Amino acid sequence: MGKVIAVANQKGGVGKTTTAVNLSACLASLGKKVLLVDIDPQGNATSGIGVNKADVHYCIYDVLINDISPVETTLPTDVEGLKVIPATIQLAGAEIELVPTISREVRLKKALEVVKDKYDYVIIDCPPSLGILTVNSLTASDSVLIPIQCEYYALEGLSQLLNTIRLVQKHLNAQLTIEGVLLTMLDARTNLGIQVIEEVKKYFQDKVYRTIIPRNVRLSEAPSHGQAIITYDPRSRGAEVYTDLAKEVVGI
Ligand code: ADP
Ligand code: MG
Repeated sequence: MGKVIAVANQKGGVGKTTTAVNLSACLASLGKKVLLVDIDPQGNATSGIGVNKADVHYCIYDVLINDISPVETTLPTDVEGLKVIPATIQLAGAEIELVPTISREVRLKKALEVVKDKYDYVIIDCPPSLGILTVNSLTASDSVLIPIQCEYYALEGLSQLLNTIRLVQKHLNAQLTIEGVLLTMLDARTNLGIQVIEEVKKYFQDKVYRTIIPRNVRLSEAPSHGQAIITYDPRSRGAEVYTDLAKEVVGI
């Protein structure tokens, strides 16, 4: 049975997409079969893994709104073992179009049920909001991975995310757990990062991953080349830490 993990935090710029893309690629490099699902209308995971959005025929929008099978929307990537369901800007309309539809919160769950057993992991890159697309992701998932940027106000807004998780657990998906909390973009030159790490560990305790993602220029360059970090620069610090994270997720 494939495990479905949503990468979620309604704050933008905390490292969701970087984590979704690179965790997916590193899991695949460990020999796992992985499906990356982009459910952010910005489609950054889609372009970040090398899919040209202009060439996309069907995207996740068609799965959610037009009942197109996820099989038909799945595309190969340059990383062996990794496939992707892309998102394009068309998805921006879905938040509104889903409102009057039946079973609007469980559409992604139903769609993924058809394909998830073909994979070891399905990783969903959520948009920076707690709207219907994120609720669909949390409803479809076994667990949620929360990236937190090592900066001032790191914990701000997290109560809303945790509240949404509780509501989903109560009404839509009782099985949902917190996979882990990932500290991202640590700047080792400042004391601030250390303070944030302590604060987050006090709050989330053993849910915090041992792996902490530092700021790494290669990680920020890779998406513009349409490559995961392990392809773009396999010897970089970024490749090393996301491989460590993948091992933690697998439990090796
Ligand atoms: P989100 O999906 O939460 O909005 P992104 O993953 O897109 O966040 O990251 C926001 C920006 O920060 C992007 O430009 C990305 O390339 C960059 N970034 C993310 N993680 C790192 C990192 N560890 N080191 C350097 N830059 C990073
Ligand atoms: Mg993103």
